[in-house]
Amino acid sequence: MNVEAQQTVPSSEQNVIEIRNLRKVYDAAEPVVAVDSVDLDVREGEFFTILGPSGSGKSTLLQMITGIETPTGGEIRIDGDVVNDVKSYNRNTSLVFQEYALFPHMTARENVEYGLMLRGVPDAERRERADGMFELMNLVGKEDRNIQELSGGERQRVATARSLVIEPDVLLLDEVLGALDEKLAKEMQVELKRIQEEVEKTFVFVTHSQEEAFSMSDRIAIMNDGNVEQVGAPLEIYNDPATEFVADFLQMPNIVTGEITAVGDRVASVQSDGMEYRIARTKIPWTPTVGDELTFLIPNERLFFDNDHENSFESTVADTIFKGSYTEYAVQLLNDRELRVHETTGESLLSEGSEVTVGFASDAVVVFS
Ligand code: ADP
Repeated sequence: MNVEAQQTVPSSEQNVIEIRNLRKVYDAAEPVVAVDSVDLDVREGEFFTILGPSGSGKSTLLQMITGIETPTGGEIRIDGDVVNDVKSYNRNTSLVFQEYALFPHMTARENVEYGLMLRGVPDAERRERADGMFELMNLVGKEDRNIQELSGGERQRVATARSLVIEPDVLLLDEVLGALDEKLAKEMQVELKRIQEEVEKTFVFVTHSQEEAFSMSDRIAIMNDGNVEQVGAPLEIYNDPATEFVADFLQMPNIVTGEITAVGDRVASVQSDGMEYRIARTKIPWTPTVGDELTFLIPNERLFFDNDHENSFESTVADTIFKGSYTEYAVQLLNDRELRVHETTGESLLSEGSEVTVGFASDAVVVFS
């Protein structure tokens, strides 16, 4: 979006955060473009996740929202006001870190009340607001424990309480489940979502974990190399990944690139490594012509072991991976191309070396533009 265009976009009341052309270059021996050019809207009351690989600029983006880092260019609005030059402590945001950053020599209560004390909130009100937090976090009875006497999950909840008690408009959470073991992290996913729904606040959550993002978020922004690749609800992104990067990051393996060799009324033929695929024209986001390059994804649950589909290939089972309710097969086509197929587990499994026909509908694919 260019600068002129964005100035004509009215600030929506529904958006609590509006980010336009945001950029951050760190001064180093070699300047690092951590955030290249980001446009993003976060709606009031939503659980919004910034998902991406390590180094893609997620933390930098979060730190600019909360005011720890200053943008090199662009604009951040919170509640309609440009906050680029507003100090961190004057913004209505609060950040929870992965490493908790709790005061180790204080009790849980002292930690939670700390921000209120700084703001001069009277004793009785401080106590009452902290009590509300301990209740919300299921930590009643643990108020007077020292931080060292709490488990990882409890510390995480104290850290969240300490940030929430000051009643920010937006709570920012940076990889907060990263330090917990897998089981605890899963429990905390459920807890965090419950807390967010109960307090009805906007949460902006940063993670590199697809599972965390998918299970908690109302919407997700996927970042790559300082830019946002796609924004959408989890199911939207899963069903229709916008770019090859997104599909690859979400571990969708069946990505094929080829050349259009014929265009019919309904389908286009695509040649790739000697194989011909038939792709529905309705799935191609431009008017296809012979010679165009085309990259598409075949979601593994839309591949079937039958010959009822427009695309049908002889193949050999190269690997059978039993996953419980479903089984993942790696099958090799005659050109050695491997496809991954997910099939609901039945009475028996296909053994490695079995010859099978694998097929998919011409409109089962996602074409990348
Ligand atoms: P993520 O949170 O997605 O892992 P970061 O925002 O931490 O990504 O980092 C984005 C890029 O900016 C990386 O290349 C990182 O090395 C670089 N970076 C982060 N912080 C600094 C800094 N203070 N100085 C220089 N480079 C930095």
